[in-house]
Amino acid sequence: PSHLSFQKLAQENSANLTESKFNAVFAAWHFRREQACEMLCLYQPQRFEMGSNIPIAGKYKDKGTKMSFQKFELHEKILAGVQMLGYQKPTPIQLQAIPPVMEGRDLMGLAQTGTGKTAAFVLPILQRFMEKPLGRIRALIIAPTRELSEQTHEAIKQLGRKTKLRSAAVYGGVSIHNQINRLRGNVEIVSACPGRLLDHIERGTIDLSHVEVLVLDEADHMFDMGFLPDVRRIVNHLPQKRQTLLFSATMPDDVKSLAMDLLRNPVNIQIG
Ligand code: AMP
Repeated sequence: PSHLSFQKLAQENSANLTESKFNAVFAAWHFRREQACEMLCLYQPQRFEMGSNIPIAGKYKDKGTKMSFQKFELHEKILAGVQMLGYQKPTPIQLQAIPPVMEGRDLMGLAQTGTGKTAAFVLPILQRFMEKPLGRIRALIIAPTRELSEQTHEAIKQLGRKTKLRSAAVYGGVSIHNQINRLRGNVEIVSACPGRLLDHIERGTIDLSHVEVLVLDEADHMFDMGFLPDVRRIVNHLPQKRQTLLFSATMPDDVKSLAMDLLRNPVNIQIG
């Protein structure tokens, strides 16, 4: 089901909003029922009030409860990071992406920067590695620019500040030796630009053989900047068995075919 069919559902008049329609739209999104109720509140605040009964025809009338970050069942140390950043409630992309990503699903997210997409993938990654930091690289995030790599690295540091998980940023234009030292110091999450990352791969100064989660951020910009061949070369150094998440604001053909090659049975979400 697409974003559109979801919106259509939210616009149904109450008498037509049957249980089976509701379930059909939300089942494929991997929402628990109460999360689905909250989605209706979020998209149609004029009709559905947070915490009120969702008017569904038929025998069930569930109560929507306040959808806060608690609902994701994140570790309390991760929730502490969320609180410190002052996030009150999840953004639409976080609501849609966090549950399936926590389940280990691949994901294709059509979303721009500013939607909260960083936390949408960082929170499930922190949750997944929380219990066993292990001291080797388990998540790799690839982004087109130094600024985005640095921002993501910062978000990981902030959201994960109460956890033992360590993150490193890898991009060009700064000393490679400091990065090599940092990578030797046992990090679990690397936020990288393609060029410098390949440099480390060629020098043998990064071990990507334990990567479990790959995130391609702003894939359309990577395409614009001519990085897709580099991205494919990098992916060849990763284990085949992994979770892959791809975010892009637009979907040019080259990004589509990259997604087809890399994603397995992905959940598709679209924001805006
Ligand atoms: P992003 O789209 O990931 O670049 O996020 C855009 C901005 O929104 C960043 O400054 C985030 O810190 C902020 N942000 C992300 N999630 C939330 C949230 N749930 N509530 C408030 N702010 C958020």
